Amino acid sequence: MLVVIGLIVAFVVLLWLQPWKSRACRWREDRTHDGAQTRFVCVACGVVVLSDGGAPTRCLAGEQ
Ligand SMILES: [Zn+2]
Repeated sequence: MLVVIGLIVAFVVLLWLQPWKSRACRWREDRTHDGAQTRFVCVACGVVVLSDGGAPTRCLAGEQ
């Protein structure tokens, strides 16, 4: 019985925290891209961003 309660608690905590949403993007510079801007590709969610400066500091998955 204790195992079942533990599983339910773990499930609720997982749904509550939603770690897959808050997972930070890992940006990788695409050096094959030649242009004025630098092209960054997120390894975690696949978002592509053109940037004048460095890599973005947060996930842009929901904004594109
Ligand atoms: Zn991402």
